[in-house]
Amino acid sequence: MQENQAMQNLPPYLFARIEKKVEEARMQGIDVINLGIGDPDQPTPQHIIDVMARSIHEPANHQYPSSVGLLRYREAVAGWYKRRFNVDLNPATEVISLLGSKEGIAHISFAYLDKGDINLVPDPGYPVYAIGTQLAGGISYIMPLTEENQYKPVLEDIPENVARQAKLMFINYPNNPTGAVADTGYYMKVVEFAKAFDILVCHDAAYSELAYDGYQSPSFLQVPGAKTVGVEFHSLSKTYNMTGWRIGWMAGNHDAVEVMGRFKSNVDSGVFQAVQYAGISALEGPQQTVAELQHMYQQRRDAAAAGMQSLGWSFTKPLGGFYMWVKVPRGYTSAQYCEMILEKAHVILTPGNGYGQYGEGYFRIALTVDTARITEAMRRIKAAL
Ligand SMILES: *Cc1c(COP(=O)(O)O)cnc(C)c1O
Repeated sequence: MQENQAMQNLPPYLFARIEKKVEEARMQGIDVINLGIGDPDQPTPQHIIDVMARSIHEPANHQYPSSVGLLRYREAVAGWYKRRFNVDLNPATEVISLLGSKEGIAHISFAYLDKGDINLVPDPGYPVYAIGTQLAGGISYIMPLTEENQYKPVLEDIPENVARQAKLMFINYPNNPTGAVADTGYYMKVVEFAKAFDILVCHDAAYSELAYDGYQSPSFLQVPGAKTVGVEFHSLSKTYNMTGWRIGWMAGNHDAVEVMGRFKSNVDSGVFQAVQYAGISALEGPQQTVAELQHMYQQRRDAAAAGMQSLGWSFTKPLGGFYMWVKVPRGYTSAQYCEMILEKAHVILTPGNGYGQYGEGYFRIALTVDTARITEAMRRIKAAL
């Protein structure tokens, strides 16, 4: 039996080729430094693990959870938005739990697109925006993110007939992979645009709590009118080193929350309740670990920046997220350069074209290894070049 057209068109997993090379190198006993992984290397804070350990013994948590999440969890999300952004959310109607934000980001296209409908998708970008669109039978209209536009879609460049047909618009700040941030002034323009063309804005805020040099990421929902046109996807994954736990949320527009609830109640059965209680303790417990995490990534960023400067690489120090977006030196494609560095220095960089055509000419570094390893990676690359 042949899989459907959308699956046939699904590109091979971005990192499959790299992983094969890494495997080969490791088999030969070579120490490979992986700067490619978008997954925190630090453990989940202890107080969250403790709540999980207690909650797992509670028989009530062994049953099917509600697919929209415990009201108590949604209240914790609403409380966090109030404290962090001064955004008011009705926990009963404006918040829904997700099995990690990736799940919701992929599924929202299934709830909103008819065959051939258009989503506005940033490029380079987190691959799930375009792949969710494709699997749902929709078409991605690419919004280029370039150095010239500070990696923010230029709304005026989107043709009116495209905007009129578009259902969803994905944006993501602090941005993966470029490290760019956006301010509320930009979000205000997005709200106006979405109102004019009846588009649901989907802001992916997975990295909002990883910010440096005193920078604080705003929420899209802070902007007046945002809740009438948009939702925010968020997750405990990056803020609390909980990528394996699979818990996130979507918040904002109540119609969209209702639609997603109806969709998800037919597809999944929600987040394990013990994990939801752990999530509550993450959001309501001490936030000192978040400050420590920021400090740690900032030191790593600065160590990487120092090494990269001495290599003559061209990049901007990011204010948020845990990625650095670097220009490929002249004479190489992204893939050629990353392969050359892997072969000569045994350091893994991620080729930018894996995030879309406008990522060609760049590579991405993830700050998910410690400062000593970052410094060692830079030393090896310098020696190899
Ligand atoms: C890591 C990441 C997420 C979070 O995914 P979860 O499913 O919540 O773990 C979402 N968006 C982007 C851009 C990411 O890099």
